[in-house]
Amino acid sequence: MAVDVGIRGRGAVATTLALALGQQGLRVALSAAIANDPSRSDVRAYALNAASRRLLQRLKVWDALPGDAVTPVYEMHVRGDAGAGRLRFSSWTQRVDALAWIVDAAELDRAANDALRFAAHVQRGDDAPPAALTVYAEGKHSASRAALGARFERHDYGQTAIAARLTAAEPHQGVAHQWFRAPDVLALLPFDRPQAQRSYALVWSLPRDRADALMALEAADFERELNSAGADLPTGLSLASERSAWPLALASAQPSCGEGWVLIGDAAHLVHPLAGQGLNLGLGDVQALADTLAGREPWRRLGDERLLRRYARSRAWPVQSMSWLADALVQGFSSPHAWVRELRNRGMGLIDRAAPAKRWLAAQALDG
Ligand SMILES: Cc1cc2nc3c(=O)[nH]c(=O)nc-3n(C[C@H](O)[C@H](O)[C@H](O)COP(=O)(O)OP(=O)(O)OC[C@H]3O[C@@H](n4cnc5c(N)ncnc54)[C@H](O)[C@@H]3O)c2cc1C
Repeated sequence: MAVDVGIRGRGAVATTLALALGQQGLRVALSAAIANDPSRSDVRAYALNAASRRLLQRLKVWDALPGDAVTPVYEMHVRGDAGAGRLRFSSWTQRVDALAWIVDAAELDRAANDALRFAAHVQRGDDAPPAALTVYAEGKHSASRAALGARFERHDYGQTAIAARLTAAEPHQGVAHQWFRAPDVLALLPFDRPQAQRSYALVWSLPRDRADALMALEAADFERELNSAGADLPTGLSLASERSAWPLALASAQPSCGEGWVLIGDAAHLVHPLAGQGLNLGLGDVQALADTLAGREPWRRLGDERLLRRYARSRAWPVQSMSWLADALVQGFSSPHAWVRELRNRGMGLIDRAAPAKRWLAAQALDG
């Protein structure tokens, strides 16, 4: 079959784009040349925003997720150094159903791949055949990016994120927690697996040597370190999965498109996970690219560079602003200087009391 769009990649961004373009009636080839490593299960859970949820609902992926693979977040508590600064967000004051939804990464993959089996216009093969447009959703280690002439300057944070599933002694009540404890950032996302109401997804970003040391500890010693990591931690945290480690960097591809090709998702931009926005940005790319292709002039080719630049322009601000925000948080909260510490804690207190500023901040994260 001749195809209109070839997609290289097999992560959530590639599969959702294949579903979205297939829904438009475009003939799509999704390459699965690189198989998943079956020995590695993904212990992460993503905090997805309302825009991502709407996209996944339209693609019939959301409703196919098992009930306990999605947990709504009703409150978010952010704490500064030694409990000094504090920020609280709630779905009630934001007047939304939930601030975010915590979604099991492996289940999301599975549901999107299941949906692909019913997508009439999508073919899967070892390699994407030549097409008018090739989309590269190959993730941060994209092998094609350099060959396309795109630079990907990485700013290495010198940090590693440790991810794991935890259980706690008390119910999570839909509250997400984040501790900015210069230099590390500890996030606990409420989750219903493996134990309903009592589980969390952990994302703990630390300087690399400290993360290596924590990864090397036996489970019981790691749990001891975790439980003593901060005030107000939920009690009785224990590991419910293996731990996985993710080196952290900031990067964006320049250029991100050219005649007949475009980079999307982590292949195009990398942000620190403290803002929980990497996949939300990737799904934002999917929606914007699908809209741009659907709205093209009847005479314009799918791979027309001008069309693709139109897409790239529409993504510049959302991606850039989120990268800046996450980077500013990392820089501001990793500084050991006393005056920076004072400033950030006072800043958190000020924002907490300034309702409009708080609503604006939450709205950025909520709707991409
Ligand atoms: C610890 C941690 C926590 C995170 N938490 C959140 C969160 O709460 N919310 C959020 O929005 N984001 C979060 N993120 C970010 C999110 O994981 C990524 O942004 C997202 O997974 C990127 O998806 P992707 O499909 O672009 O890339 P990937 O998930 O990397 O998928 C790309 C896939 O394509 C494959 N591939 C490469 N080349 C080819 C080829 N030529 N043909 C076929 N396949 C190929 C790769 O092997 C890979 O499997 C987190 C990240 C980390 C590290």
